[in-house]
Amino acid sequence: MDPFKNALSFLDDISSYLSPADKPYLARLKNPNHVHKDILQVSMDDGSKKDFPAFRSQHNNALGPYKGGIRFHPGVTEAEIKALSLWMSLKCSIAGLPYGGSKGGVIVDPKKLSKSELESLSRAYARFLAPHIGEHVDVPAPDVNTNPQIMAYLLDEYEKVIGHHAPGAFTGKPLILGGSMGRDKATGYGGVLALKFLIEKLKSKHSGGSQTAPLHKAPSSDTPTWYMKPISQITVAVQGFGNVGYFFAKIASEQGFRVVAVSDSKGATYLETGLDPVATMECKRQKGSLAGCYCKGGVCDLKGGTMMSNEDLLQLPVDILVPSALENVITKDNTSKIKASVIVEMANGPITSEADHLLTSKNVLIIPDIYANSGGVSVSYFEWVQNLMGYYWTEEEVDEKLEALMKTSFNKMFKRSEEGTISLRKAAYLVAVERIIEAERMRRPL
Ligand code: GLU
Repeated sequence: MDPFKNALSFLDDISSYLSPADKPYLARLKNPNHVHKDILQVSMDDGSKKDFPAFRSQHNNALGPYKGGIRFHPGVTEAEIKALSLWMSLKCSIAGLPYGGSKGGVIVDPKKLSKSELESLSRAYARFLAPHIGEHVDVPAPDVNTNPQIMAYLLDEYEKVIGHHAPGAFTGKPLILGGSMGRDKATGYGGVLALKFLIEKLKSKHSGGSQTAPLHKAPSSDTPTWYMKPISQITVAVQGFGNVGYFFAKIASEQGFRVVAVSDSKGATYLETGLDPVATMECKRQKGSLAGCYCKGGVCDLKGGTMMSNEDLLQLPVDILVPSALENVITKDNTSKIKASVIVEMANGPITSEADHLLTSKNVLIIPDIYANSGGVSVSYFEWVQNLMGYYWTEEEVDEKLEALMKTSFNKMFKRSEEGTISLRKAAYLVAVERIIEAERMRRPL
Protein backbone atom coordinates (compact mmCIF):
# COMPACT_ATOMS: atom_id res chain seq x y z
CA MET A 1 0.00 0.00 0.00
CA ASP A 2 1.15 3.56 -0.72
CA PRO A 3 2.64 4.74 2.60
CA PHE A 4 1.10 8.21 2.40
CA LYS A 5 -2.38 6.82 1.66
CA ASN A 6 -1.91 4.47 4.60
CA ALA A 7 -1.06 7.44 6.86
CA LEU A 8 -4.11 9.34 5.57
CA SER A 9 -6.39 6.43 6.42
CA PHE A 10 -5.37 6.80 10.09
CA LEU A 11 -6.46 10.45 9.83
CA ASP A 12 -9.76 9.39 8.24
CA ASP A 13 -10.34 7.06 11.20
CA ILE A 14 -10.71 10.04 13.55
CA SER A 15 -12.65 12.36 11.27
CA SER A 16 -16.05 11.33 12.68
CA TYR A 17 -14.91 12.14 16.24
CA LEU A 18 -14.01 15.76 15.43
CA SER A 19 -16.46 18.57 16.17
CA PRO A 20 -18.27 20.00 13.11
CA ALA A 21 -16.24 23.21 13.51
CA ASP A 22 -12.94 21.29 13.45
CA LYS A 23 -13.74 18.94 10.57
CA PRO A 24 -13.00 21.32 7.68
CA TYR A 25 -9.50 21.95 9.06
CA LEU A 26 -8.62 18.27 8.72
CA ALA A 27 -8.33 18.78 4.95
CA ARG A 28 -5.30 21.04 5.58
CA LEU A 29 -3.42 18.10 7.07
CA LYS A 30 -3.97 15.85 4.07
CA ASN A 31 -1.08 17.27 2.10
CA PRO A 32 2.34 18.54 3.13
CA ASN A 33 2.87 22.30 2.77
CA HIS A 34 6.03 21.71 0.69
CA VAL A 35 7.91 18.75 -0.76
CA HIS A 36 11.44 19.71 -1.84
CA LYS A 37 13.35 17.26 -4.01
CA ASP A 38 16.57 17.09 -5.96
CA ILE A 39 19.15 14.68 -7.33
CA LEU A 40 22.39 14.82 -5.35
CA GLN A 41 25.52 14.18 -7.40
CA VAL A 42 28.35 12.66 -5.36
CA SER A 43 31.97 11.96 -6.41
CA MET A 44 32.78 8.36 -5.56
CA ASP A 45 36.20 7.13 -4.43
CA ASP A 46 36.89 5.55 -7.86
CA GLY A 47 36.49 8.94 -9.58
CA SER A 48 33.00 8.23 -10.95
CA LYS A 49 29.94 10.33 -10.15
CA LYS A 50 26.72 8.87 -8.76
CA ASP A 51 23.20 10.32 -8.45
CA PHE A 52 21.11 9.99 -5.30
CA PRO A 53 17.47 11.24 -5.21
CA ALA A 54 16.80 13.36 -2.11
CA PHE A 55 13.64 14.69 -0.45
CA ARG A 56 12.46 16.97 2.35
CA SER A 57 8.74 17.04 3.10
CA GLN A 58 7.54 19.94 5.28
CA HIS A 59 4.09 18.93 6.39
CA ASN A 60 2.63 21.57 8.72
CA ASN A 61 4.12 24.45 10.73
CA ALA A 62 1.12 25.95 12.50
CA LEU A 63 2.61 25.16 15.94
CA GLY A 64 6.20 26.19 15.18
CA PRO A 65 9.20 25.40 12.95
CA TYR A 66 9.04 22.15 11.00
CA LYS A 67 10.87 19.35 12.83
CA GLY A 68 11.90 15.87 11.79
CA GLY A 69 14.66 13.44 10.98
CA ILE A 70 16.58 12.45 7.87
CA ARG A 71 16.89 8.84 6.74
CA PHE A 72 19.41 7.31 4.37
CA HIS A 73 17.89 4.07 3.07
CA PRO A 74 17.49 2.27 -0.26
CA GLY A 75 13.73 1.91 0.36
CA VAL A 76 13.07 5.65 0.72
CA THR A 77 10.26 7.00 -1.50
CA GLU A 78 8.57 10.37 -1.76
CA ALA A 79 5.31 8.86 -0.44
CA GLU A 80 7.14 7.41 2.57
CA ILE A 81 8.78 10.74 3.42
CA LYS A 82 5.41 12.52 3.11
CA ALA A 83 3.82 9.96 5.48
CA LEU A 84 6.66 10.33 7.97
CA SER A 85 6.35 14.14 7.86
CA LEU A 86 2.63 13.93 8.66
CA TRP A 87 3.41 11.65 11.62
CA MET A 88 6.05 14.17 12.80
CA SER A 89 3.40 16.94 12.89
CA LEU A 90 1.19 14.71 15.03
CA LYS A 91 4.09 13.52 17.21
CA CYS A 92 5.29 17.04 18.02
CA SER A 93 1.72 18.07 18.71
CA ILE A 94 0.83 15.28 21.13
CA ALA A 95 4.15 15.81 22.92
CA GLY A 96 3.16 19.46 23.44
CA LEU A 97 6.21 20.79 21.56
CA PRO A 98 6.25 24.16 19.76
CA TYR A 99 6.96 22.45 16.42
CA GLY A 100 5.36 21.35 13.21
CA GLY A 101 6.43 18.25 11.30
CA SER A 102 8.82 17.38 8.48
CA LYS A 103 10.98 14.51 7.28
CA GLY A 104 13.85 14.06 4.86
CA GLY A 105 15.40 11.17 3.06
CA VAL A 106 17.90 10.04 0.47
CA ILE A 107 17.58 6.87 -1.62
CA VAL A 108 20.91 5.24 -0.80
CA ASP A 109 22.31 2.18 0.90
CA PRO A 110 24.82 3.89 3.21
CA LYS A 111 26.40 0.52 4.04
CA LYS A 112 27.73 0.46 0.48
CA LEU A 113 29.46 3.85 0.79
CA SER A 114 32.96 4.51 2.10
CA LYS A 115 33.41 6.98 4.96
CA SER A 116 34.38 9.79 2.61
CA GLU A 117 31.52 9.04 0.18
CA LEU A 118 29.08 9.17 3.10
CA GLU A 119 30.54 12.53 4.16
CA SER A 120 30.24 13.91 0.59
CA LEU A 121 26.63 12.73 0.34
CA SER A 122 25.79 14.32 3.72
CA ARG A 123 27.35 17.64 2.66
CA ALA A 124 25.51 17.57 -0.68
CA TYR A 125 22.27 16.95 1.21
CA ALA A 126 23.01 19.93 3.52
CA ARG A 127 23.48 22.21 0.47
CA PHE A 128 20.15 21.01 -0.92
CA LEU A 129 18.47 21.67 2.46
CA ALA A 130 20.10 25.03 3.17
CA PRO A 131 17.54 27.36 1.51
CA HIS A 132 14.65 25.57 3.22
CA ILE A 133 15.79 25.08 6.83
CA GLY A 134 17.02 27.07 9.85
CA GLU A 135 16.68 27.34 13.63
CA HIS A 136 13.24 28.94 13.24
CA VAL A 137 12.24 27.37 9.93
CA ASP A 138 12.87 23.61 9.86
CA VAL A 139 15.14 21.66 12.22
CA PRO A 140 16.38 18.27 10.94
CA ALA A 141 17.63 15.41 13.15
CA PRO A 142 18.77 11.78 12.82
CA ASP A 143 16.46 8.98 11.69
CA VAL A 144 17.12 5.54 10.14
CA ASN A 145 20.86 5.13 9.27
CA THR A 146 21.84 8.68 10.26
CA ASN A 147 23.70 9.57 13.46
CA PRO A 148 25.49 12.38 15.36
CA GLN A 149 28.49 12.23 12.98
CA ILE A 150 26.21 12.82 9.99
CA MET A 151 24.51 15.68 11.88
CA ALA A 152 28.01 17.16 12.38
CA TYR A 153 28.68 17.09 8.58
CA LEU A 154 25.25 18.60 7.89
CA LEU A 155 25.71 21.37 10.46
CA ASP A 156 29.23 22.17 9.29
CA GLU A 157 28.18 22.44 5.63
CA TYR A 158 25.04 24.41 6.47
CA GLU A 159 27.05 26.89 8.60
CA LYS A 160 29.45 27.35 5.66
CA VAL A 161 26.49 28.29 3.44
CA ILE A 162 24.94 30.77 5.90
CA GLY A 163 28.27 32.12 7.19
CA HIS A 164 27.72 31.85 10.95
CA HIS A 165 27.14 29.35 13.73
CA ALA A 166 23.61 28.03 14.09
CA PRO A 167 23.73 24.97 16.36
CA GLY A 168 19.95 25.01 16.78
CA ALA A 169 19.47 24.29 13.07
CA PHE A 170 20.03 20.54 13.66
CA THR A 171 19.46 18.26 16.65
CA GLY A 172 20.95 14.90 17.53
CA LYS A 173 24.42 16.47 17.20
CA PRO A 174 27.58 15.25 18.94
CA LEU A 175 27.87 16.74 22.46
CA ILE A 176 30.93 18.79 21.47
CA LEU A 177 28.90 20.62 18.80
CA GLY A 178 25.97 21.44 21.07
CA GLY A 179 24.22 18.08 21.37
CA SER A 180 22.19 17.32 24.47
CA MET A 181 22.96 14.89 27.25
CA GLY A 182 20.49 12.01 27.08
CA ARG A 183 19.60 12.44 23.36
CA ASP A 184 21.14 9.12 22.25
CA LYS A 185 18.96 7.04 24.55
CA ALA A 186 15.91 9.32 24.52
CA THR A 187 13.64 7.46 22.07
CA GLY A 188 14.18 4.08 23.75
CA TYR A 189 13.92 5.56 27.23
CA GLY A 190 10.69 7.34 26.31
CA GLY A 191 9.25 4.05 25.04
CA VAL A 192 9.99 2.28 28.31
CA LEU A 193 8.42 5.20 30.21
CA ALA A 194 5.32 4.84 28.01
CA LEU A 195 5.09 1.15 28.88
CA LYS A 196 5.52 1.84 32.60
CA PHE A 197 2.83 4.56 32.56
CA LEU A 198 0.47 2.10 30.87
CA ILE A 199 1.14 -0.60 33.47
CA GLU A 200 0.59 1.88 36.33
CA LYS A 201 -2.73 3.01 34.85
CA LEU A 202 -4.03 -0.48 34.12
CA LYS A 203 -3.02 -1.71 37.57
CA SER A 204 -4.77 1.16 39.29
CA LYS A 205 -7.90 0.63 37.19
CA HIS A 206 -7.79 -3.10 37.96
CA SER A 207 -7.42 -2.60 41.71
CA GLY A 208 -10.13 0.09 41.66
CA GLY A 209 -12.49 -2.38 39.95
CA SER A 210 -13.13 0.17 37.19
CA GLN A 211 -15.49 -0.99 34.45
CA THR A 212 -14.57 1.65 31.90
CA ALA A 213 -13.24 1.18 28.36
CA PRO A 214 -12.10 -2.40 27.70
CA LEU A 215 -8.57 -1.38 26.82
CA HIS A 216 -7.00 -4.70 27.59
CA LYS A 217 -7.65 -8.40 27.20
CA ALA A 218 -10.05 -9.85 29.76
CA PRO A 219 -8.14 -11.80 32.42
CA SER A 220 -8.26 -15.51 31.68
CA SER A 221 -8.60 -18.00 34.54
CA ASP A 222 -5.28 -19.80 34.10
CA THR A 223 -2.81 -17.00 33.17
CA PRO A 224 -2.60 -13.73 35.08
CA THR A 225 -3.28 -10.58 33.06
CA TRP A 226 0.10 -9.45 31.74
CA TYR A 227 0.27 -6.23 33.71
CA MET A 228 -0.46 -7.97 37.04
CA LYS A 229 2.62 -10.21 36.69
CA PRO A 230 5.83 -9.31 38.54
CA ILE A 231 7.88 -7.15 36.18
CA SER A 232 10.56 -9.87 35.86
CA GLN A 233 7.94 -12.14 34.27
CA ILE A 234 6.70 -9.63 31.71
CA THR A 235 8.30 -10.79 28.48
CA VAL A 236 9.43 -8.41 25.74
CA ALA A 237 10.53 -9.00 22.12
CA VAL A 238 12.22 -6.14 20.27
CA GLN A 239 12.27 -6.15 16.45
CA GLY A 240 15.10 -3.90 15.22
CA PHE A 241 18.37 -3.42 17.11
CA GLY A 242 19.44 0.03 15.92
CA ASN A 243 19.64 3.02 18.25
CA VAL A 244 15.95 2.90 19.19
CA GLY A 245 15.58 -0.87 19.67
CA TYR A 246 18.89 -1.17 21.49
CA PHE A 247 18.13 1.51 24.06
CA PHE A 248 14.57 0.23 24.53
CA ALA A 249 15.90 -3.30 25.20
CA LYS A 250 18.73 -2.08 27.44
CA ILE A 251 16.57 0.22 29.59
CA ALA A 252 13.65 -2.25 29.76
CA SER A 253 16.06 -4.92 30.94
CA GLU A 254 17.66 -2.55 33.51
CA GLN A 255 14.17 -1.80 34.82
CA GLY A 256 13.52 -5.52 35.34
CA PHE A 257 11.50 -6.55 32.24
CA ARG A 258 12.49 -9.88 30.69
CA VAL A 259 13.75 -9.09 27.19
CA VAL A 260 13.67 -12.50 25.49
CA ALA A 261 14.39 -11.59 21.86
CA VAL A 262 15.98 -8.90 19.71
CA SER A 263 16.55 -8.81 15.95
CA ASP A 264 18.44 -6.97 13.24
CA SER A 265 17.87 -7.09 9.49
CA LYS A 266 19.59 -10.50 9.25
CA GLY A 267 17.58 -12.29 11.94
CA ALA A 268 16.63 -12.58 15.60
CA THR A 269 18.22 -14.04 18.68
CA TYR A 270 15.95 -15.57 21.36
CA LEU A 271 16.66 -16.60 24.94
CA GLU A 272 13.64 -17.67 26.97
CA THR A 273 15.20 -16.80 30.32
CA GLY A 274 15.99 -13.27 29.14
CA LEU A 275 19.03 -11.92 27.34
CA ASP A 276 21.53 -9.23 28.21
CA PRO A 277 21.08 -6.43 25.61
CA VAL A 278 24.49 -4.86 26.31
CA ALA A 279 26.37 -8.16 25.84
CA THR A 280 24.21 -8.90 22.78
CA MET A 281 25.14 -5.54 21.23
CA GLU A 282 28.80 -6.23 21.99
CA CYS A 283 28.48 -9.58 20.17
CA LYS A 284 26.69 -7.90 17.23
CA ARG A 285 29.50 -5.32 17.01
CA GLN A 286 32.11 -8.05 16.91
CA LYS A 287 30.33 -10.25 14.38
CA GLY A 288 28.72 -7.49 12.31
CA SER A 289 25.21 -8.88 12.91
CA LEU A 290 23.22 -10.80 15.52
CA ALA A 291 23.69 -14.03 13.58
CA GLY A 292 25.84 -16.23 15.74
CA CYS A 293 25.03 -14.51 19.03
CA TYR A 294 23.25 -16.85 21.47
CA CYS A 295 23.44 -19.76 19.03
CA LYS A 296 23.00 -23.31 20.24
CA GLY A 297 26.08 -25.46 19.68
CA GLY A 298 28.92 -24.34 17.43
CA VAL A 299 31.04 -21.39 18.45
CA CYS A 300 28.87 -19.16 20.61
CA ASP A 301 29.88 -16.21 22.74
CA LEU A 302 26.69 -16.24 24.76
CA LYS A 303 25.23 -19.66 25.36
CA GLY A 304 21.72 -21.07 25.53
CA GLY A 305 19.69 -19.21 22.94
CA THR A 306 18.37 -19.80 19.46
CA MET A 307 18.33 -17.91 16.20
CA MET A 308 15.07 -17.18 14.41
CA SER A 309 13.78 -14.99 11.61
CA ASN A 310 12.34 -11.51 12.07
CA GLU A 311 8.93 -12.91 11.15
CA ASP A 312 9.24 -15.59 13.88
CA LEU A 313 10.11 -12.91 16.42
CA LEU A 314 6.90 -11.03 15.60
CA GLN A 315 4.93 -14.20 16.30
CA LEU A 316 6.50 -15.06 19.69
CA PRO A 317 4.09 -15.65 22.60
CA VAL A 318 5.41 -12.63 24.52
CA ASP A 319 3.52 -10.03 26.54
CA ILE A 320 5.08 -7.03 24.81
CA LEU A 321 6.10 -6.74 21.17
CA VAL A 322 8.23 -3.75 20.23
CA PRO A 323 8.66 -3.12 16.48
CA SER A 324 11.58 -0.67 16.34
CA ALA A 325 12.75 -0.70 12.73
CA LEU A 326 10.72 0.28 9.66
CA GLU A 327 7.14 0.74 8.50
CA ASN A 328 4.64 -1.94 7.52
CA VAL A 329 6.07 -4.97 9.34
CA ILE A 330 2.67 -5.91 10.75
CA THR A 331 0.15 -6.15 7.92
CA LYS A 332 -3.21 -7.86 7.38
CA ASP A 333 -1.24 -10.95 6.29
CA ASN A 334 0.48 -11.62 9.61
CA THR A 335 -1.86 -10.10 12.24
CA SER A 336 -3.58 -13.41 12.91
CA LYS A 337 -0.22 -14.80 14.06
CA ILE A 338 0.58 -12.02 16.53
CA LYS A 339 0.30 -13.34 20.09
CA ALA A 340 1.48 -10.35 22.14
CA SER A 341 -0.98 -8.53 24.43
CA VAL A 342 0.65 -5.16 23.83
CA ILE A 343 2.52 -3.60 20.92
CA VAL A 344 4.74 -0.59 21.62
CA GLU A 345 5.32 1.11 18.26
CA MET A 346 8.89 2.37 18.53
CA ALA A 347 9.25 2.52 14.72
CA ASN A 348 7.15 5.00 12.78
CA GLY A 349 4.20 3.27 11.11
CA PRO A 350 5.12 -0.39 11.81
CA ILE A 351 1.44 -1.43 11.68
CA THR A 352 -0.65 -0.77 8.56
CA SER A 353 -4.07 0.76 9.05
CA GLU A 354 -5.79 -2.49 8.03
CA ALA A 355 -3.71 -4.46 10.54
CA ASP A 356 -4.42 -1.83 13.18
CA HIS A 357 -8.17 -2.38 12.81
CA LEU A 358 -7.77 -6.17 13.01
CA LEU A 359 -5.50 -6.06 16.08
CA THR A 360 -7.68 -3.53 17.89
CA SER A 361 -10.74 -5.71 17.33
CA LYS A 362 -8.79 -8.58 18.93
CA ASN A 363 -8.13 -6.28 21.95
CA VAL A 364 -4.41 -6.09 21.33
CA LEU A 365 -3.38 -2.91 23.08
CA ILE A 366 -1.23 -0.67 20.85
CA ILE A 367 0.80 2.23 22.23
CA PRO A 368 0.85 4.29 19.02
CA ASP A 369 4.05 5.50 17.40
CA ILE A 370 3.23 9.19 17.54
CA TYR A 371 3.25 8.93 21.33
CA ALA A 372 5.47 5.86 22.03
CA ASN A 373 8.54 7.12 20.16
CA SER A 374 8.11 10.83 20.93
CA GLY A 375 10.96 10.73 23.48
CA GLY A 376 13.49 11.30 20.68
CA VAL A 377 12.01 14.48 19.30
CA SER A 378 11.24 15.68 22.84
CA VAL A 379 14.92 15.60 23.75
CA SER A 380 15.66 17.13 20.33
CA TYR A 381 13.46 19.99 21.53
CA PHE A 382 15.47 20.22 24.76
CA GLU A 383 18.65 20.27 22.65
CA TRP A 384 17.27 23.14 20.54
CA VAL A 385 16.24 25.09 23.66
CA GLN A 386 19.75 24.64 25.12
CA ASN A 387 21.29 25.78 21.81
CA LEU A 388 19.13 28.89 21.64
CA MET A 389 19.98 29.93 25.21
CA GLY A 390 23.59 28.70 25.05
CA TYR A 391 23.27 27.04 28.47
CA TYR A 392 23.39 23.29 28.96
CA TRP A 393 21.64 20.82 31.29
CA THR A 394 22.87 17.65 33.01
CA GLU A 395 21.61 14.23 31.92
CA GLU A 396 19.52 14.03 35.12
CA GLU A 397 17.81 17.33 34.27
CA VAL A 398 17.07 16.16 30.72
CA ASP A 399 15.73 12.78 31.88
CA GLU A 400 13.53 14.43 34.48
CA LYS A 401 12.08 16.89 31.95
CA LEU A 402 11.46 14.06 29.46
CA GLU A 403 9.61 11.99 32.05
CA ALA A 404 7.39 14.95 33.00
CA LEU A 405 6.61 15.74 29.35
CA MET A 406 5.80 12.14 28.46
CA LYS A 407 3.64 11.69 31.56
CA THR A 408 1.54 14.73 30.68
CA SER A 409 0.93 13.55 27.12
CA PHE A 410 0.26 9.97 28.27
CA ASN A 411 -2.40 11.19 30.66
CA LYS A 412 -4.05 13.28 27.93
CA MET A 413 -4.07 10.32 25.53
CA PHE A 414 -5.32 7.82 28.12
CA LYS A 415 -8.06 10.12 29.40
CA ARG A 416 -9.28 10.71 25.86
CA SER A 417 -9.26 7.00 25.16
CA GLU A 418 -11.37 6.30 28.26
CA GLU A 419 -13.80 9.14 27.65
CA GLY A 420 -14.50 8.08 24.08
CA THR A 421 -14.05 4.31 24.56
CA ILE A 422 -11.60 4.47 21.68
CA SER A 423 -8.16 3.01 21.00
CA LEU A 424 -5.05 4.76 22.27
CA ARG A 425 -4.17 5.49 18.63
CA LYS A 426 -7.44 7.30 17.92
CA ALA A 427 -7.10 9.16 21.23
CA ALA A 428 -3.52 10.20 20.41
CA TYR A 429 -4.52 11.35 16.92
CA LEU A 430 -7.43 13.38 18.31
CA VAL A 431 -5.31 15.11 20.96
CA ALA A 432 -2.64 15.87 18.35
CA VAL A 433 -4.95 16.98 15.53
CA GLU A 434 -7.08 19.21 17.77
CA ARG A 435 -3.99 21.08 18.99
CA ILE A 436 -2.83 21.71 15.40
CA ILE A 437 -6.34 22.79 14.40
CA GLU A 438 -6.44 25.26 17.32
CA ALA A 439 -3.24 26.88 15.99
CA GLU A 440 -4.51 26.79 12.39
CA ARG A 441 -7.75 28.48 13.48
CA MET A 442 -5.84 31.33 15.20
CA ARG A 443 -3.61 31.84 12.16
CA ARG A 444 -5.89 31.25 9.21
CA PRO A 445 -9.54 30.86 10.24
CA LEU A 446 -11.85 29.27 7.73
N1 GLU B 1 13.68 10.70 13.70
C1 GLU B 1 13.09 10.80 15.00
C2 GLU B 1 11.60 10.61 14.92
O1 GLU B 1 11.09 10.02 13.99
C3 GLU B 1 13.52 12.07 15.72
C4 GLU B 1 13.11 13.34 15.06
C5 GLU B 1 13.69 14.60 15.70
O2 GLU B 1 14.35 14.50 16.73
O3 GLU B 1 13.45 15.66 15.14
O4 GLU B 1 10.88 10.95 15.81
